[in-house]
Amino acid sequence: MNLPQTVTSLFKRLRFVLVETSHPGNIGAAARAIKTMGFSELVLVNPRFDYALTDPEAIAFASGAQDILASAKIVSSIEQALAGCHFVAAVSARLREFSPPVLSPRALAENLSGQIQEPVAIVFGNERYGLPNEIVVKCNALINIPANPDYSSLNLAQAIQLLAYECRVAQLGDAGSVSPIGFHGDLASADEIDRMYAHLEQALVAINFLDPAHPKKLMPRLRRLFSRTQLETEEVNILRGIAKKILDGRKD
Ligand code: SAH
Repeated sequence: MNLPQTVTSLFKRLRFVLVETSHPGNIGAAARAIKTMGFSELVLVNPRFDYALTDPEAIAFASGAQDILASAKIVSSIEQALAGCHFVAAVSARLREFSPPVLSPRALAENLSGQIQEPVAIVFGNERYGLPNEIVVKCNALINIPANPDYSSLNLAQAIQLLAYECRVAQLGDAGSVSPIGFHGDLASADEIDRMYAHLEQALVAINFLDPAHPKKLMPRLRRLFSRTQLETEEVNILRGIAKKILDGRKD
């Protein structure tokens, strides 16, 4: 018998690990990047300054994400940072001769969201020298952001933002997508749409476009056409306005 498996959202089981970060401002910006995308777990391995989490620059760059800084952990080894993780990805601007399989940020995000309950981690390197080979070889995947080959090194917090975004989109799936039309008004109700079809049908009959004795598939086809869009009340009113004008014109 298959027992139902519990699913733990990626938002709750993804850890962002920063190795030997130099600039407190980047740590603050990382906290903000993580929080804007719905994640919360930040672990620092040997940051340059012990007080990095309370540094005024970190706090300023975190903006409204100070709670992430307050709950972040500082540890002294990568092993401590990765404790309990079942899948670890190293994020690096440099490809190496000996490395785990290379994945794009998107492929990684899909992979992580597909694992259903294991804690997982993404590891980022120092601003100047990146991640050492000893850490990369411990990881299950190497993630390279396909940037401009002539200038491929992103700011640390921006690299984190990009990975966090991909993970968010992968986790939310369709639920996270928004309408491609930026602005939209109130969607028409099924009733309003039905009344619009009735009105349109009358107008089409009035101008002899629709023969009630031989309606063929005209109305179903029109329904199918409009059902491919999400009609708004205002749009339904415009179509009814056209039908009304046609009918009024016939009376003259
Ligand atoms: N000169 C360093 C770049 C450090 S940038 C190097 O050679 O690696 C700081 C961190 O941001 C990197 O360790 C990595 O985690 C991330 N990063 C920046 N640009 C990246 C890219 N194009 N692909 C993957 N990770 C990147």
